[in-house]
Amino acid sequence: MGGIMKVLFCSSEVVPFAKTGGLADVAGTLPPELANLGVNIKVVLPYYKSIDSKKFEIKKIDKDTSVAVIQNNVEVYFIENKRYFDRANLYQYNGVDYRDNLERFTYYCQQTLRLAKKIKFKPDIIHCNDWQSALIPIYLKTIYKDDAFFKKTKTVFTIHNLGYQGLFSKEDFSVTGLDYDVFSMEGLEFYGRINLLKGGLLFSDKITTVSSTYADEIQTPQFGCGLEGVLLKRKNDLSGILNGINCHDWDPTQNKTLTKNYGPDAIAGKYHNKIDLQKICKLKVSKNIPLLGIITRLADQKGLDILAEVIDKIVQMPIQFVLLGTGDPKYHKLFENIKNKYRNTSIHLSFDAKLAYKIYAGSDIFLMPSYYEPCGLGQLISLNFGTIPLVRKIGGLADTVVDYNPFTKQGNGFVFDNYQAGALLEAIKRALCVYNDSETWNKLVAGAMKCNFSWEKSAKEYNKLYKKLLSSKK
Ligand code: ADP
Repeated sequence: MGGIMKVLFCSSEVVPFAKTGGLADVAGTLPPELANLGVNIKVVLPYYKSIDSKKFEIKKIDKDTSVAVIQNNVEVYFIENKRYFDRANLYQYNGVDYRDNLERFTYYCQQTLRLAKKIKFKPDIIHCNDWQSALIPIYLKTIYKDDAFFKKTKTVFTIHNLGYQGLFSKEDFSVTGLDYDVFSMEGLEFYGRINLLKGGLLFSDKITTVSSTYADEIQTPQFGCGLEGVLLKRKNDLSGILNGINCHDWDPTQNKTLTKNYGPDAIAGKYHNKIDLQKICKLKVSKNIPLLGIITRLADQKGLDILAEVIDKIVQMPIQFVLLGTGDPKYHKLFENIKNKYRNTSIHLSFDAKLAYKIYAGSDIFLMPSYYEPCGLGQLISLNFGTIPLVRKIGGLADTVVDYNPFTKQGNGFVFDNYQAGALLEAIKRALCVYNDSETWNKLVAGAMKCNFSWEKSAKEYNKLYKKLLSSKK
């Protein structure tokens, strides 16, 4: 390959235009970082009703295509179709998936390939994400197999959450426009249904997911969601590349929401934020009481069942406990109860971005006892804020948090292994023990803030993967 590498990045959600989860953050941040490394990259997503065309200066280029420009001059193309995308939400309404999702995202995938031709952008790589864009690599190896325009195009597929696979009834297979041969055990068939993610995994040239440990875990029955066999088959083409965080948004030296800015060389400012948080939360104001924070979706995935088992024991210790989260009603009830029982707790059952900054900055310890975690952002953000993460050794948490060793003084957090309430409690006791030695603790805080989880680093790894793929003979 000579000249500048061309990449078409396909994602069904992109920050700041449309977001339901972490995929949108990746799709809005990674392409500009790759552009910074000299990659010619364009992004494609559906033109949902919720996207404000005036606010983002989106310009129409023809009847069903529009374009906007984001950082580093990256162009984002919007595929328009009123029937499919002019509705309240991205994928579902009132918790129920739209019945025509297969048709909607088939349209998105087919139009994306047509768009590349229309704008004469011959991609070296098409990078697809999750089930919504999984038909693209399948089309390239079937319908477009002999198409001269895409002759040299390779595909990369990234799994952001294996739990969402794009499952549809086999009766609808004709919607995809694919030959029925592809609906087989070696293709899109999955226990009698269509599985788009499975197809994406089988037909892409390379597969990535959002951490190395999660890449290993999903090859096992415990975390493979039924696709472990497929992933094992593709294991030589599967790797993990850690997500980054937007360091500007989460920079304690600059963040305007904080009472006082601070950094690794001036951590005293962190304690002003702790006092501020205690005031907001109507907790006793004291620099010395260890403050444990947690910000999470209230879902089983997040380890709340083991936390529930020992929560009374935790809050009966000389600590303060602040929780911010929404989700499963059973956890709302549990934490409502804790709030009424203990005065050293402050429970916020809502989504509140501003309070999240305050908790990240004002807490001493950040809890993430997840059952599974593909990458996890909370631990990365808290490290940036010098708040020491206490996590379970799983997925992206295992790749980013190193258990503190009191003898070697190495590590940036506290880690426990077994998914058991006792193990969580033991890790909290260990953390509190270190907390009592303020000199050691302050070093831990300053060290945490020096960890680097920038997108720049992740973008370099994707760039390396693209180059390797393009130089391979296969
Ligand atoms: P997941 O994507 O599985 O929910 P992550 O740790 O990857 O978990 O990312 C969660 C992100 O959402 C973090 O940035 C966290 O701060 C934020 N968040 C979660 N719940 C809330 C809430 N109730 N209010 C504000 N921010 C929240």
